[in-house]
Amino acid sequence: MSDERISAATATSQDLSIERFLRPQTFDEFVGQRGVLDNLKVYVQAARNRGDVLDHILISGPPGLGKTTLAGIIANELQTEMRHTTGPALEKPADLAGILTNLAPGSVLFIDEIHRLGRAVEEYLYAAMEDFRLDIVIDTGASARSVRLELPKFTLVGSTTREGLLASPFRARFGVLEKLDYYPWQDLQTIVKRSSGILGISIDEEAACLVARRARGTPRLANRFLRRLRDFAEVGGKSTVDKEAAEDGLTRLGIDEEGLDAMDRRILVCIAQQGGVPVGLKTIAVSVGEEESTIEDVYEPFLIQKGLLRKTARGRVATEKACEHVKAEKPDGLFG
Ligand code: ADP
Repeated sequence: MSDERISAATATSQDLSIERFLRPQTFDEFVGQRGVLDNLKVYVQAARNRGDVLDHILISGPPGLGKTTLAGIIANELQTEMRHTTGPALEKPADLAGILTNLAPGSVLFIDEIHRLGRAVEEYLYAAMEDFRLDIVIDTGASARSVRLELPKFTLVGSTTREGLLASPFRARFGVLEKLDYYPWQDLQTIVKRSSGILGISIDEEAACLVARRARGTPRLANRFLRRLRDFAEVGGKSTVDKEAAEDGLTRLGIDEEGLDAMDRRILVCIAQQGGVPVGLKTIAVSVGEEESTIEDVYEPFLIQKGLLRKTARGRVATEKACEHVKAEKPDGLFG
């Protein structure tokens, strides 16, 4: 179960291989997020009509909501190639130069976790985004000199879970800024049904609804629950995931009726124990044994959205609803 809990934060390697099958390829296959989609469709169409590259796009939002999927769709709809990399993978300006100089003209460069780009690389990217050129310093000391590389025109699609960490000059270089929000359960139910069709999993309407309601507004989790429920059903000798099997399976995965997992509850218990005194992020991280950044990126946005946690200038406070929700939890049992 601890693996399930940890992977609620990020994609597991198993997720990543299955996600390739499940990923919508076109705007029409992408479920929900109508506002974002409608805007992107217009920008893509306009760029195609002009025969020009699309402006750089920044997509923000919690993990698992479809940022990578959208980047791929944008490239598909532009009928161009996409190169995929991540902020932490671009350690040195030379890493960036290697990628940029090899891009096909008009293609999409997708940088996931763009808030984790090193400052030096980020500054090189400024000129590449604005003028499609790169001034690289080669050699050191007396023989150091700057070489200008002309780049093919490209569209940068950046994805981030922490838009606030991007320097403002960097943010300002994106012509399009879009934010993905947690999905309503109705959209997740559609996603669960779509995925069950692709993966050949039989799930009834009520069970799909239950999965959708407990998947914390996140398609990646809905898809993961679906696969685990299939495992439970198959091993239990059932050919269809019905409501009973879904309820039983989600309980085994530690997901409660609010869609909270064990880590969400630990966080709330840790804060609720302080009886209304705000608790610092560091204290929470140490108490629950999770990275501060994961708590901020993954757990808090959902708890805030659910009205269970509030951020104040002095720290985090659990709401009355949260205290009520976790009152039966035993701190000793959780942390012991
Ligand atoms: P992110 O990049 O935001 O972490 P991904 O794009 O990797 O999220 O999406 C995770 C999984 O969820 C993918 O397999 C994709 O199939 C599915 N998914 C995400 N958004 C949607 C959507 N709107 N419709 C259908 N499936 C989706």
